[in-house]
Amino acid sequence: MVKDVLLYKWPIAVIPERRMRSPEVRAAVNETVAALTAWSIGVASEGVGPEMGFMGESLAGTDREGLIGQPLAFGWRACYFAFKGDLKARHEVHCLRRYYQCNRFCDRCLALQGSKCPTPMDFRNISDDAAWPLTCIDHSTYLHLDQECLTPWLKVPGFNFLSITYDYMHNFYLGTARDLVGSAIKVFVDHGLVGDPGTKSMDEMLCLVHRRMRSVCRENGVPLPCKPNLTMANIGGEDGYFSMGTRFKAAHIKTMVWWVAKESERLAAPSNEPLLNVLAVCAYGLQRCTEVMDLASVVLTKEEAEEASESLHLHLRCYFWLASYFYLRRKMLFKVRCKTHYNFHIAQDIKNYQLNAALFHTFQEESFLGKLKCIAVRCHGKTCTKRLFQRYLLCLAVFLEDLGRTTRKVG
Ligand SMILES: [Zn+2]
Repeated sequence: MVKDVLLYKWPIAVIPERRMRSPEVRAAVNETVAALTAWSIGVASEGVGPEMGFMGESLAGTDREGLIGQPLAFGWRACYFAFKGDLKARHEVHCLRRYYQCNRFCDRCLALQGSKCPTPMDFRNISDDAAWPLTCIDHSTYLHLDQECLTPWLKVPGFNFLSITYDYMHNFYLGTARDLVGSAIKVFVDHGLVGDPGTKSMDEMLCLVHRRMRSVCRENGVPLPCKPNLTMANIGGEDGYFSMGTRFKAAHIKTMVWWVAKESERLAAPSNEPLLNVLAVCAYGLQRCTEVMDLASVVLTKEEAEEASESLHLHLRCYFWLASYFYLRRKMLFKVRCKTHYNFHIAQDIKNYQLNAALFHTFQEESFLGKLKCIAVRCHGKTCTKRLFQRYLLCLAVFLEDLGRTTRKVG
């Protein structure tokens, strides 16, 4: 089985938007990338080699001349399925007017953020009188509502506004789960998980928590690296809220959510304290949804989709309860972010489409970008794109040679 992500992904354009000269250049680049993607998907969906190139150029005398009119992949054809990327890519590529830095921050509904928004439209309002759940936008509504600023991806055959997916990894493991784990650790310390609070400094307590976390993970066969250490410097967020720092990767956070679910259940069982019980249900809801998706196939059964969606809803409702509990006590725990709201849409999408949200993880894409970055930083800025592709092809050649040798040895 081929494991290296370099072998099955291909870069089309690697240019940060902020480095482009002007808004016009930016718009033209987005337009061209979308047109190229549309052309490529158009050809791939027909399944035969095109008569001319993307720019209308003749293929005579090139390697592609022999492919004209010939089946490209033994009769298999491809089609557009979904767009995935992080929140920044989502709003930059699709020119979304409503994104995380705006008061009207959600492209999928008309929820509002900010201190002055009316209560029924406030995204933090999840009670029965909330009005924002009634304002969800579908593809045809999007075409009317945002007609002055539509995405260039409308050219892509099969594109639908609802197929711009949310990324489960960024929204949970690099988003709200960071806040959940960081805040839960503070709650555990305050409830004496590793000894009487107040007898030691917070850093010493965190060191004991980390040791305990690793030992529980080891006993259950779940690997958790010893670095980075758990200290106040990397769990006290910049804004004062408890949240795991960026040195902890998505895979660490995923394991830590499992640990929080296990530990909070153990702490909650003998007590009747609502806080610990709600925290246990909150962590269990997220962990259960992750488990359903890790064990299920690409398309979920109706029961799996309902269970995953309901678990996420349960997790979110408990998370809001915890946020409000600590807000009233003026403690900076369980921060509510835009991502917390987007997670409601993820939960709804799982139920509506019965597709495994793991399909829209960007673990591999992040790893792919990291590898491209490793190549790009060794190239001169002026010839970066050319050198990047040359070195990338060289890498592929080395991989294929190694693979060929291994296969010959096995054979
Ligand atoms: Zn929304």
